[in-house]
Amino acid sequence: MLRLKLPELSDKELRDLEGSFDSVLECMEDQEGAAMVLERCASERDIAAALVRLASVAVREDVSGSTELRIAVGTRALMVAGNMLKSVARRDCGGATWAARATASALADALLKTQVLHAAARQAASVVAALGGSTSFPTLAAGAGPSSAACACAVKVAGVIAELVGVFCSYSYWRQDIALEQKLCSALRESCVLDQVGRLLLSVVPVPGAPAPSRELESRQDSALTSLCAAIHDVTVMERRAGDAGTTPPLPTGLPAAMILCAGTLSMADQLGCGLPRTALLMTPLSCRTGSHVFPCVEGILIQTLLTTLSRDQQLPRPTVPARAAIRLLLRVLRLASAAARASNGTSASRGSGRMVRVDMSWDKVRRVETQEYRLLIAPQTASQLVLQVKEATAQLGQAAAARPAAWAAEAAQAWGPLFGAVWSTAADMDHLQRSELLGTHTYLLETAVAPLVVPKGDPPRLVSSPAQLPPGLKAALDGGFVPLLETTLRSIFDHSDPNRPALALVRVFLAQPGARHHTALALVHAAPREAAALIATLSKLLLGLTPLFLTQGNDYMVETTIIMFACELLHLSLDALHNSAAYSEPPGPVDPAAPCAPLLVLSFAILQLLPQVSRLLQRALLRVQGEAGAAKGRPKSTSSMTASLQALLGAMHYAGATPTSLGTLPRHRLAVACSLPLLVDSGLERLLGALLALVQLFGAVPYDVPVDSVNQNIARCCTRLHQAYPVAGSASGAGGWQPGALRALATRLAAGTEPSLGAELEALAAKLEGGGGSGDAAPLESGASAAAAAALAERLAALKAEARALLPACANPACVNLAGDSEAGVKLQPCAGCKAVAYCCRECQAAHADAGHMVVCGGKGK
Ligand SMILES: [Zn+2]
Ligand SMILES: [Zn+2]
Repeated sequence: MLRLKLPELSDKELRDLEGSFDSVLECMEDQEGAAMVLERCASERDIAAALVRLASVAVREDVSGSTELRIAVGTRALMVAGNMLKSVARRDCGGATWAARATASALADALLKTQVLHAAARQAASVVAALGGSTSFPTLAAGAGPSSAACACAVKVAGVIAELVGVFCSYSYWRQDIALEQKLCSALRESCVLDQVGRLLLSVVPVPGAPAPSRELESRQDSALTSLCAAIHDVTVMERRAGDAGTTPPLPTGLPAAMILCAGTLSMADQLGCGLPRTALLMTPLSCRTGSHVFPCVEGILIQTLLTTLSRDQQLPRPTVPARAAIRLLLRVLRLASAAARASNGTSASRGSGRMVRVDMSWDKVRRVETQEYRLLIAPQTASQLVLQVKEATAQLGQAAAARPAAWAAEAAQAWGPLFGAVWSTAADMDHLQRSELLGTHTYLLETAVAPLVVPKGDPPRLVSSPAQLPPGLKAALDGGFVPLLETTLRSIFDHSDPNRPALALVRVFLAQPGARHHTALALVHAAPREAAALIATLSKLLLGLTPLFLTQGNDYMVETTIIMFACELLHLSLDALHNSAAYSEPPGPVDPAAPCAPLLVLSFAILQLLPQVSRLLQRALLRVQGEAGAAKGRPKSTSSMTASLQALLGAMHYAGATPTSLGTLPRHRLAVACSLPLLVDSGLERLLGALLALVQLFGAVPYDVPVDSVNQNIARCCTRLHQAYPVAGSASGAGGWQPGALRALATRLAAGTEPSLGAELEALAAKLEGGGGSGDAAPLESGASAAAAAALAERLAALKAEARALLPACANPACVNLAGDSEAGVKLQPCAGCKAVAYCCRECQAAHADAGHMVVCGGKGK
């Protein structure tokens, strides 16, 4: 059938040979034919040997000029050899005759012995050189790429070599011959054939702006890439098998090739070398225009090895993957593994045809608008494998961030979406330990982001008002949408439609531990004001839905108490920010109205809008405690949410009580502090103080884990100051009023302690209240100068409120608890038809507000 003369053939003979090979390959297109050819080879003993020699000679040739013919013949020889091996392996024990198997076995041995893989590697390398590609790391060449004919030839060589490697692997697996596998492993390792094929494939990728390759070439590129990825996978599996027999290689042979593909395609997708990424996800240039995006190595063993290698602080001999590219690679792995997990647990929008995975890009800043389809080259994995992959990738990301902080700071903006997404996609399949490991990395990464701002407990917070001064990690986290992601998560915590409630797990990470809560709050006050305002509004709505039970009974594991404590942390931070703003951001000289501290000031004030919510909850909780004490239930249980909210309110009182009277001369941010008293009054301070006083009387002190001295002082100061400002304060009867007996008890304590004058003031106040309550003088402050200051204060308060409101338009219904959608910033508001001055998120809110009195304001047209 075939008449071969070796080693050198004329062009005519080569053409004949090409024709013969073509007809042989045609015969081998189906299994029957392949078997027939195999049997025929077995009967003509020298054919196999001839094939081998021809293959090894042919693959050495250059692609240029007439030798293209030799390449063509050589690749066909490899294809025939591959098909024969494949055919024997496929037919397994039943089909192939002994003679055929012997031939295939001889062929395999001969191919290895004649170092056909080395020849193939050299061939691939010379093609890369001929195409003008770099021999080390793929770079973006300027100008036009190689000609399409050269590309077509190169792609064919790459495809055939990759396929031959794959066939070798499956053949040796079928033979169950460890010696053969080990021989193959070392040939693969020494020849670097996979690396060369990887480079070859990348060198024919069209440079940006160059004309697109033909459909045909593109589909060949695609299938060559698929073959290479499959080969990388097979080799990795085989090496592990062979390694079990005692010859573990230092690094998997497929690794450099995978690195070349991953890092190379990353560079090209971004068109920026290994600089800043443009797109969050990999769009493999080999196929991006057909819409079938390919990720080269979504496979468990390989990915894990890749991750381990990347996380080590070591560099591969070749190629050198820059740290940033490595981190980006980890992020993409995380994203893809998350997407695959979503697909496998059925929550993916489109499960596709088994091998397609739709990656939900919603966890980017833009949220829930973008999806992209990726092709998984290896069969989808089981959920448990994906969970491990996600956990592993996250852990490696943490390690990489620790080992290479600069690279991490540069890439962290891309990280938070995938990190949040990873929890959402895998929470269902994780056990408690896995989840806490995964979430531990999240906390760690957040900690590293805000670490430069953290100060020893008790010092004023280190806050910066200009984005340019933010620590790089924090800036990256904020740029990466940390705050909107957290807001979206918060809005989903009570969404029971997802039985795994991943939002709960996530919120616990960021809000349940005191340290994490502090870090999150620090991140939030440095966020873009509108984003922060949206999160504050969401938090406020969540607080509105809570009952005082979460203060009196709640434990730290309840997400509701966590929310209360986060609100308190924010209040604490914002009060500190307002009070200490002069210390950290005020430029010397007169206060500039356009000073950079304005957004932080307004934001801090916006956070103060949570005071009424916390105050209302606390007040109701204290009344409940008071009632229970009356029913002789004894000393109340101390909960951390109760303590936290008490401290937040006491902190607010402290600042309000400390406000100097010479308001007119204060710079504007100090005015904001001064505003905390009127704000507290709005928040129901009078009733709150009444409840606290009642408890002091009942238990002899506030029965919670707060420093008693400062509580007593704060309550006393606030009572006297409030009464001074609002002389009717305290005189109400019932729960809101201040019992003179309670005031006296407190005064005695203070007089006996370090505050005799405060005690005396309080005593006087008690006497005054006993003597008929308020003086009837409704003017807040007495003298002319003070009246002017009070007017300035009221004006400033109104202005600050307006500024804080302007950060984010909100539904005018104060009882609105609509948490639909991802963000408060995305809520569409409809203006009131009557006055157009206010707007609502929905008809229900409009109706509720009309019933609550807006109809009167609006002249009856509002409903
Ligand atoms: Zn509403
Ligand atoms: Zn209206």
